[in-house]
Amino acid sequence: MSIRIGILGYGNLGRGVECAVKQNPDMELAAVFTRRNPADVHIMTETAKVYHVDEAVKMKDEIDVLILCGGSATDLPKQTPEFAQYFNVVDSFDTHAKIPEHFADVDAAAKKSGKIGLISVGWDPGMFSLNRLYANAILPEGTDYTFWGKGVSQGHSDAVRRIEGVVDARQYTIPVEKALTAVRNGENPTLTTGEKHTREVFVVAEEGADREKIEKEIKTMPNYFDEYETTVHFISEEQMKAEHAGLPHGGFVIRTGKTGWEKEHSHVIEYSLKLDSNPEFTSSVIVAYARAAYRLNREGQSGCRTVFDIAPAYLTVKSPEELRKHML
Ligand code: NDP
Repeated sequence: MSIRIGILGYGNLGRGVECAVKQNPDMELAAVFTRRNPADVHIMTETAKVYHVDEAVKMKDEIDVLILCGGSATDLPKQTPEFAQYFNVVDSFDTHAKIPEHFADVDAAAKKSGKIGLISVGWDPGMFSLNRLYANAILPEGTDYTFWGKGVSQGHSDAVRRIEGVVDARQYTIPVEKALTAVRNGENPTLTTGEKHTREVFVVAEEGADREKIEKEIKTMPNYFDEYETTVHFISEEQMKAEHAGLPHGGFVIRTGKTGWEKEHSHVIEYSLKLDSNPEFTSSVIVAYARAAYRLNREGQSGCRTVFDIAPAYLTVKSPEELRKHML
């Protein structure tokens, strides 16, 4: 029998999960739940239906894993513990500083219901976190570096959109090539975030808006831009639609370290991602981990987990025999 997947929240990630489920032969989309009017939400899978979120609990026996696709700021802190009372759940919670708190909330709910709650799955947190862990375990004496981009930061784009006179904005985070090269060469540089990344902003301004003022406001915005070298371009609405509609992202996790006794040897571990679509890739990671949540719960396990707790073989549809024969 297929693993029956439910999606709660149908934005970029919700759509991405729907695409990923289609690529996994052992899964099927059972239902999509939304807080909006279901008649206004149009999904692609012909065999599944959209329901209002209030219908979800009634369908708990028809869904093996509910994937929570709401936003990290306000949706997931509430939704993940709430739905872990009834379902195995997976989310992509990415507010790094609040992960311990979120873990505790989901753990309490999932232990009580006997379900699995798998949180903070994606690429950062997610695949980047795993690669930081592997590299640290292997090279205890070393230095970690994470570079992001080139990619769209939704948070920074939103911050620019809130400036008076701005109609639309897209912000790209770009790694500084010189800093990347120094790290890859094992030079172990000490780098501030501002030395690792630059920011490029494309802005559609209101007609007659004071562009100089907007540019200054962007470049001096505390926490978001003031510590970075930032370039601002004013473009037309048509250009924004034609050239900046996608959500690409990616980055590099690098650890450099040394081994040896009398003679030292240097090593560089690097994991990189170049993603045309941040949400579609994130969703593909989530769906692989949904399989693990399902399997763990079938084994009788419950409580909260992160990517650190999941053995790799639980992620794949391939059998342990196939894995040993072809992938080891
Ligand atoms: P979206 O803004 O596209 O969607 C969030 C929610 O908004 C949806 O679930 C949807 O819920 C609601 N929504 C309301 N109105 C609309 C509308 N008109 N169209 C679409 N959705 C609407 O966010 P994303 O899907 O891009 O991202 C979700 C979260 O994923 C982010 O907050 C981020 O924290 C996390 N993320 C994590 C990553 C990682 O690596 N761990 C990487 C990328 C993202 P409803 O259907 O109930 O209305």
